[in-house]
Amino acid sequence: MSEDLISEFQEKGNKLTPMMQQYLDIKSRYQDTLLFYRLGDFYELFFDDAKKASRLLDLTLTRRGNVSGDPIPMCGVPFHAADNYISRLIKLGESVVICEQYGIPGKQKTMERKISRIVTPGTVTDEGIAPENQENLIASIYKGTHYYGYAWLNLSSGVFKTAIARDLSEVGLYLDKTTPAEIIYPENFKELDCINEIQSRKAVPDWNYELKTAYRALCTQFATQSLLGFDIEDLEDAICAAGALLAYVKETQNVSIDHVRAIARDDNSGFVILDKTAQRNLELQQNLRGDKRGSLLGVLDKTCTPMGCRYLRSSLVTPIRNNFEVNSRLDIVEALIATGTYEKIENDLSSIGDIERIAARIGLSSAKPKDFAVLRDSLKLVPNLKDVLNSAGSEALTAYAASIDALPQIENLLTRAIAKVPSTFLRDGGVIADGYSEELDTLRKLMNGSEEILSKIEAREKAASGISTLKVNFNSVHGYYIEVPRSQSDKVPATYIRRQTLKNNERYITPELKELEEKTLNAQEKSLALEKQLFEEIMQALKQELPTLTTLALMLAKLDMLNSFAVTAYENNYHRPVLSRERVLKISQGRHPVIETLSDKPFVANDLDLSDKRMLIITGPNMGGKSTYMRQAALIAIMARIGSFVPADKAEIGDIDRIFTRIGASDDLSSGRSTFMVEMEEAASIVNNATRSSLVLMDEIGRGTSTVEGAALAAAIARYICEEIDCFTFFSTHYAEIARLEEKLPTIKNICFKAQKFNGKIVFLYKADSGSQKYSYALEVGKLAGLPKEIIGYAKANLDNF
Ligand code: ADP
Repeated sequence: MSEDLISEFQEKGNKLTPMMQQYLDIKSRYQDTLLFYRLGDFYELFFDDAKKASRLLDLTLTRRGNVSGDPIPMCGVPFHAADNYISRLIKLGESVVICEQYGIPGKQKTMERKISRIVTPGTVTDEGIAPENQENLIASIYKGTHYYGYAWLNLSSGVFKTAIARDLSEVGLYLDKTTPAEIIYPENFKELDCINEIQSRKAVPDWNYELKTAYRALCTQFATQSLLGFDIEDLEDAICAAGALLAYVKETQNVSIDHVRAIARDDNSGFVILDKTAQRNLELQQNLRGDKRGSLLGVLDKTCTPMGCRYLRSSLVTPIRNNFEVNSRLDIVEALIATGTYEKIENDLSSIGDIERIAARIGLSSAKPKDFAVLRDSLKLVPNLKDVLNSAGSEALTAYAASIDALPQIENLLTRAIAKVPSTFLRDGGVIADGYSEELDTLRKLMNGSEEILSKIEAREKAASGISTLKVNFNSVHGYYIEVPRSQSDKVPATYIRRQTLKNNERYITPELKELEEKTLNAQEKSLALEKQLFEEIMQALKQELPTLTTLALMLAKLDMLNSFAVTAYENNYHRPVLSRERVLKISQGRHPVIETLSDKPFVANDLDLSDKRMLIITGPNMGGKSTYMRQAALIAIMARIGSFVPADKAEIGDIDRIFTRIGASDDLSSGRSTFMVEMEEAASIVNNATRSSLVLMDEIGRGTSTVEGAALAAAIARYICEEIDCFTFFSTHYAEIARLEEKLPTIKNICFKAQKFNGKIVFLYKADSGSQKYSYALEVGKLAGLPKEIIGYAKANLDNF
C-alpha cells in the first residue's frame, strides 16, 4: 500500500494500531528515505519501504496486520546486524532513517520512539558503514543568474569547499574532481542531466538556496559576522550552494557539526584538471574493468592507514601545479628513502587508527567507547613516530615532525579516563577507567563488594545451618537468593522466606539479602548513569580540541601517503622528477608504472622530449606500444605532480593545466551515438578547451568512417592543434599520410614503434624510433589473434589488388 493510499484510508476515519499510527507519523516526515523502525530486537520496514528493502537486500517479505483488509508488507533485520544491511543500502545510493524505541518493553502500551540518526551516502561517517578507503563527499549545486554554484563537504575531515562555474562543462569538471556520493539541488533546478551519474540525488526546497538564508547559515556555523575571512564573499552563487548544503547536512545529522569550522574557495587553477574520461582512460584509481589492481593507485598504494589511502586517492585526481608545494612533498619522499626512515615508520603508522573519522564522530557526537580507546592508543604512538623522523638527521623530516602535534593533553585525558579495553556499548558500563572518578570507584566497590559480602554470607549461613551445599546467588529476575537442595530444606532456619521451588532446590530470601540487593542495584544504576555523564564530558572536552585533532589526522594521512611513495620508489626503482616552469616534458628511460609490474617480460624503457617539439605523431603496428608510450608520459607527469618519484631515470615536467585523453573507440549505444560520433565529439571538446599548457593524448582518430575521409579529418585536427593551440600532444595513428605534417610544421616530430618478422612471426620491439611507419602489420596481428589462415590469405591478395 502506498503512502497516498494510507492517508486516504486514514481520512476515511479507519483506525490503525497505535504502533502503526506512530510509524506513519514518523514516516510522513521522511518520504524518500527507508525507515528502520525498531521493534524489540529487530528493525522493521513497512509498506513500500519493505518491498524496496526486501528487493535490494534479498530479505523475505512478510506481513503484519491489515489496513483496510490489505495485509501490511513488512520485512526486518536483526538490530545487531543492522550496520551490514545499512552499509549495503548506502552503497546502492539509498538513505536510511533509524528510529529507536525508548522505555521498558511491556511497561508502556506504546513504546516511545525517536529518530536516532539518519544515514545518507554522502554524510555517513560510521565505522563499518562508510567506505573505509574511499572518501565520501556530499555536494550541492545551484544555478544563479550568471553562474553555477557548486559546494562540497567531506564530513569525515570537515573539509568544506565552494566554487563558481561559468557553464555546465565547468560544473562537470568539479563533479569529476570531487565525485560526490550524494548531491542536493533546488527543486527548480532544471539541468538534471549533469548530475545523472550520481547515485543519490535529492531536491530540497528552493528557499534553502536563498542568498540571505545561506549566508546566515554559514556565518552561524563558523561564528563569524561575515564570510570575508574565507575569501568567498564575492561568490554569491557559491554561497547559496554552500549554505543549502550546510542546512541539509545539519538536518540529516540531527546534531551540530562542530568539526566543520571553515569553508574555502576552490577553483581549478591550482590543479592539473583530470576529467572523468581522463581518469578512466589513464586508469588512475581503477582499471577499465573497475578493479584497483592494474591501476596507478594499485601500484602506488602502500599506505598503512585508511586515512592515508583516502588522501592518496584524492591526490591522484588533483595533481598540483605549484612547483614549490610539490617539491616540499618530494623533499620528504627523498629524505624518507635516503635515511631509510620509510621502513622504520611503517610499523607505527600501521597501528594508528582512523583518527580522521573518529574526529568526525566526535564532532557529530556519535563517537563510541572504542573510538576513544583507538584514539588514545593511536596518540600514544605519535611521539615515537616524531622521534623517528627527528632522529633521521634530515631537515625535511625534522620540519615535518615539528608540524605534527602529538596532542599529549588528549592522550593524557583518555589514558586516565578510558578503560584499557572498554565495552562496546556505553550502556554495558566498564567504559570509564578505575581511578578517574572517585564517585564512580565508590559505586563500583559497592557493586563488586557485594560479591565479597555474598561469599561471606554464604560461609556464615553454611556454618549456622549446617547445610554444606547451601549457595548464595543472584539472577536478574529474582535478585539475591539462598539456594538449598530440597533434601535439606527441613534444616533451613525460620528466618528464611521461601521464594521459589525448583525440581531439586528450594530458593529463599532474607531481609538482609533484600537490603543488599537494593543497595547493589542502586549502585549499578547510578554508576551507569555516572559513566554516561563522564563519557559525555570527555566528548565535550574532545570537541574543544577538534581543530588540532583534524590537523593531526591530515598530517598523518599525508605522511602515510608520502611514505607509500617512498616505499614504491624504492621497490620499483623510481627517481625524483624535476619540476620546471618552462614548457617542457622530458623523460629519459621512462617506463609505464602499471604495465611494468603486471608483465613477466622485461619492460622496454623509452625516452621522450617535448620542448621545442610539441607534437609527436606516432605510427607503428597494432600492439606495438604506441598507447603504452603516450599513457606512460601522462602517468609520469601525474606522479611527478602529486609528489611521487617516477619510473624513469630522469624526468623534467613543466606546467600542465589539464590532461585530455581521446583513447579507444566505444560506441555509446544507449545515447544512440556511433563510434565515429563519439570520437568527433571528444575531439571537438579537446580542441575547444585545450590551452597552450594542456597535455593531449589522441590515440587514433578518424576511424569508423571511410579511410580517406578519416585520414583527412585526423590530419586537419592535428594541424589545428599544432597551429592554433600549440599544446603538448601525442597523436597516434595508422594513417601514414598524417606523418607528412612533420615536413610542414616545425613543432611536429614523428616517432614510430617497429616490429620485425622473425621466423615468420612478428616480434614487437617496443622502442620509440624516429621516423614513421607505413606498415601496420595488421595481417600479422590478425593471425596472432587467431583469424583462420584462409582469411589472412585473402587479405594478402587484397593488399596487392586494392
Ligand atoms: P598499440 O597502442 O601500439 O596498439 P599498446 O601500447 O597497447 O600497443 O601495447 C600492447 C602491449 O604491448 C601492452 O599491453 C604491453 O603488454 C606491451 N608493451 C607495450 N609497450 C611495451 C614496452 N615498452 N615494453 C614491454 N612491453 C610493452
